Amino acid sequence: MRELRSRNAEFLEKCRRCGIINLCLWCPAHAAPEAGEIDAWIEYFCAVAHERAKAIGEADVLG
Ligand code: SF4
Repeated sequence: MRELRSRNAEFLEKCRRCGIINLCLWCPAHAAPEAGEIDAWIEYFCAVAHERAKAIGEADVLG
């Protein structure tokens, strides 16, 4: 798994450089059943992570 590389532009643009990834439910094992791809960006995972960041005052990493 660690040898795999994504070519999904949306994933690479949004998740690869994400400053709040530690607050997110996203992982390949969650993405696959949700979207059928291990490197899919999941909109509601992202929304939940951003709400968590707001709740703990991490506004500076939201960008
Ligand atoms: S918060 Fe959004 S951009 Fe960041 S890892 Fe999660 S889904 Fe990707």
